[in-house]
Amino acid sequence: MTKHVVPVSEIGRVRRTPLSAGSVVPATGVLLDRLARPLSDLRISVTDRCNFRCSYCMPKEVFDKDYRYLPHGALLSFEEITRLARVFTRHGVRKVRLTGGEPLLRKNIEVLIEQLAALRTHDGGPLDLTLTTNGSLLARKAPALKAAGLQRVTVSLDGLDDTVFRRMNDVDFPVADVLIGIDAALAAGLGPIKVNMVVKRGTNDAEILPMARHFRRTGVVLRFIEYMDVGATNGWRMDEVLPSDEVIARVAEAFALARVPVSTVGETAERWRWAEPGVAGEIGTISSVTKAFCHDCNRARLSTEGKLFLCLFASRGHDLRALLRGGASDAEIAAAIGGVWQGRSDRYSELRGRAEAESGSGERRIEMHYIGG
Ligand code: SAM
Ligand code: SF4
Ligand code: SF4
Repeated sequence: MTKHVVPVSEIGRVRRTPLSAGSVVPATGVLLDRLARPLSDLRISVTDRCNFRCSYCMPKEVFDKDYRYLPHGALLSFEEITRLARVFTRHGVRKVRLTGGEPLLRKNIEVLIEQLAALRTHDGGPLDLTLTTNGSLLARKAPALKAAGLQRVTVSLDGLDDTVFRRMNDVDFPVADVLIGIDAALAAGLGPIKVNMVVKRGTNDAEILPMARHFRRTGVVLRFIEYMDVGATNGWRMDEVLPSDEVIARVAEAFALARVPVSTVGETAERWRWAEPGVAGEIGTISSVTKAFCHDCNRARLSTEGKLFLCLFASRGHDLRALLRGGASDAEIAAAIGGVWQGRSDRYSELRGRAEAESGSGERRIEMHYIGG
């Protein structure tokens, strides 16, 4: 495993893609990239810190006590995030997901949620506002999140066996507390809740069926995620990826399933509903490795310090914070975002394994906890 990682604080200093606020891309509510993919989904990382050390995301050997996280002043303030999100809505963003790091570690996150909940889409509707969390603080925070205007949450949970889960989060966090968090979110009205399980062959694949069995009658939507080669620290190997087709075949051996047709453009999950009479709800798979879905990827990512990333596997971000703090107007920021998105041709997962997928400059890919999942 790679021990020497460029701390994000330094990446911020040395990898700054200059942005021009001068180009003219009016915000019309529809912004297409070079592959005709509209911008409609914004993921915002609100902190690069986390209280877990999942081996596939923030391995302990790298993210240790000496790791330098971003200083507070480098983070976008809530007002800066909200201002940017408003500009993004003018370009067609309808869905905003707060993520991180662990988003519930960001102090007073409900204040940000309240601000974002007041935003409207380009055609005047409410935003689809959601958050992905490891669930550790959910029991305490769910009612306040709901009251602030959060609509739904996605909770990450990699198994029901305590030993397996504690090993994967690597901070000895118990399954029971995440389950209590999920219950609290359900009670607060933050449903329908999705649970994300990253599947690593040989590590937690024995948890697939227990997880399916557990969530089958709860209304919670369980989604199995293929272990991805994000960042440069998790020591990813293809032989640890369990293809989603195999995952679903294992579930289908135990329970009757019926395929749900794709309903929205840009949907990342393949979906199945429980086909037994009287069992509501569904499960899904996210096959980012074995069945890339770049062709309709409509997601932009805003890092903790205000860089715009066009792909989960990017090495370079576009510095929107510099525009914000340099006095640019909303129209200038909208023009800059428009120019960047129009130039986008990223499709890493479709090219994975080919030379084209590697960054031309050989730069290190950005880490998931910084760019957001
Ligand atoms: N801390 C929150 C959490 O874990 O839900 C939010 C941030 S986390 C980076 C977002 C999602 O990315 C989680 O569901 C996590 O399981 C997933 N993730 C992180 N590293 C991954 C990897 N290497 N492959 C697949 N999914 C990954
Ligand atoms: Fe933290 Fe989420 Fe990454 Fe796990 S996946 S280390 S909980 S940011
Ligand atoms: Fe989108 Fe990049 Fe993932 Fe493809 S690899 S789906 S372009 S984020």
